[in-house]
Amino acid sequence: MTRVTGQLQAIVGPEGVSERAPLGARTTFGVGGPADWLVEPRTVAALEAVLRLAASNDLPVTVLGEGSNVLVADAGVRGIVVRPRLGGISELMSGRVRAEAGVTINGLVRWLIGRGLAGLEAWAGTPGTVGGAVHGNAHYAGRNISEHIVDVGLLSSQGVLGIVPAGEMGFGYDTSRLFDTKEVVVWADVQVSAGEPDVMRAVARASLAHRKRTQPLHLPSAGCVFQNPDPVRDRVPVGIPWSAGALVDRAGLKGAASGGAMISATHANFIVTDKTATAADIRRLIERAREAVRRQFGVELRDEIVYFGEW
Ligand SMILES: Cc1cc2nc3c(=O)[nH]c(=O)nc-3n(C[C@H](O)[C@H](O)[C@H](O)COP(=O)(O)OP(=O)(O)OC[C@H]3O[C@@H](n4cnc5c(N)ncnc54)[C@H](O)[C@@H]3O)c2cc1C
Repeated sequence: MTRVTGQLQAIVGPEGVSERAPLGARTTFGVGGPADWLVEPRTVAALEAVLRLAASNDLPVTVLGEGSNVLVADAGVRGIVVRPRLGGISELMSGRVRAEAGVTINGLVRWLIGRGLAGLEAWAGTPGTVGGAVHGNAHYAGRNISEHIVDVGLLSSQGVLGIVPAGEMGFGYDTSRLFDTKEVVVWADVQVSAGEPDVMRAVARASLAHRKRTQPLHLPSAGCVFQNPDPVRDRVPVGIPWSAGALVDRAGLKGAASGGAMISATHANFIVTDKTATAADIRRLIERAREAVRRQFGVELRDEIVYFGEW
């Protein structure tokens, strides 16, 4: 056991630290190599201490949520991968609910519906955690999750906690300031209102049914790999919908494969994998699709998924 492992165990307990921990099983793609250390703090104080320890040892930190929007390199991730297991939800005052970073969006939706609190029911079926949703400003049916967020609790890379109003989070389509600052989400406060559980359940069911109809949910994927084109920066040829999936589809790549990875025949912005897939297979397919769309339509597709580790 290394000195760092011992120090991490002293913070989170032996069961919260693994050396050379395979990350594939902790992502929805199911591929990727090991983290030098995977650390799973269950309290804010432990998370703070892990970040301080990493800073003082000059170790890189990568934050992992449910792994539903990441591609982990086959070579894995150097340094500490921290997976906050903070699972608290509470109603702070009327109309405001605080959900900790490790709460899943589906868990939060269920909690709210059970208490007759409306606002997030259309987000039923969105994989991932509150932390991941804040980081990438998750979107569904033209809406961004940031529309529901009031404040966010963030830890700096030195482990210092701050409360940041949504207006200062740098939220945009698929983005937030966290891409630059590397702060860690501890919790988010969401705005809710009184609602009728049966009505909310019907909205949630409609979202789930829509996903089932339009997405290849029976196979491993990380959702959309590309962002949709930007109306300001991009020019999409007339007659093609402004969506990355439509562009990949019109480029003739539905069903295209690389090793164990394939562009889904159901939704061309999804790459699905079988048990033989490697991260390199997926990455090759992403670059092939990007190149085909660039060449045929002059549109530069930007990544929605996040790459972890060495490429
Ligand atoms: C079948 C399927 C359908 C999907 N549908 C949608 C959809 O409709 N809309 C949508 O927006 N996305 C969708 N996604 C993508 C994914 O669900 C979201 O991006 C989700 O918000 C990612 O959350 P996560 O916890 O899995 O984050 P991860 O994938 O673990 O991480 C994603 C990024 O967030 C960062 N991160 C995670 N936790 C924290 C934290 N606590 N603090 C700071 N940074 C953090 C990571 O470092 C990484 O950069 C889908 C994915 C799948 C597999």
